[in-house]
Amino acid sequence: MALCDQGYLCDVCGQEVETIAESDLYLRYVIGEVDPETLHSTLERHLRCNPTLAQFIVADGFEPVVVAGFFGKSQLDPAFVVTEEARVTRGYRRLQELPTPGSLILEYPLPEVQARWRDHLKSQPDDQGIALDSGF
Ligand SMILES: [Zn+2]
Repeated sequence: MALCDQGYLCDVCGQEVETIAESDLYLRYVIGEVDPETLHSTLERHLRCNPTLAQFIVADGFEPVVVAGFFGKSQLDPAFVVTEEARVTRGYRRLQELPTPGSLILEYPLPEVQARWRDHLKSQPDDQGIALDSGF
């Protein structure tokens, strides 16, 4: 589970996803949409190559992504957009801080997501392929 396993190619554009900071896969992991068991079997993409999610990133240094059509923010419920922007942008900010020295990959997600995985693993003691080291 070493994160220095780099060299994954983007499923959309075919270019290398060079850092976790530009990885759509790890953003979705941080915000709890990809679970730890499937992290390494899920295709890698750049943030910008998944515009329907990237459009919710509102942060300095991230050029806004605009999606045309049905899945664009302008077509969505404004309350939903506000909630998504808060959630996805928080995940993006956390992603920019990773990896922190000595952190385990299970410590990458947002705190509420970590709590959710912990409950999930606890409730399925025979179904985990993951070693929960210290820190929990
Ligand atoms: Zn790409």
